[in-house]
Amino acid sequence: MVKKQEIDGRELWQCEECGFHYETRDLAEKCEAWCKEHRSCSMEITKHAVELGKQESEGCC
Ligand SMILES: [Zn+2]
Repeated sequence: MVKKQEIDGRELWQCEECGFHYETRDLAEKCEAWCKEHRSCSMEITKHAVELGKQESEGCC
């Protein structure tokens, strides 16, 4: 299950598999479904993560 968290006054959704945060529940659920099935992250999804959006890093999992 994705988790809703409040960080810096923003509501974010966390994928429990990889720990990345998203601005929408939809994205977090997509990430979690992918993470569970593939045991890795999809760049198409994680590029929307709050963590990656900030630093434009491609590092993941
Ligand atoms: Zn994930």
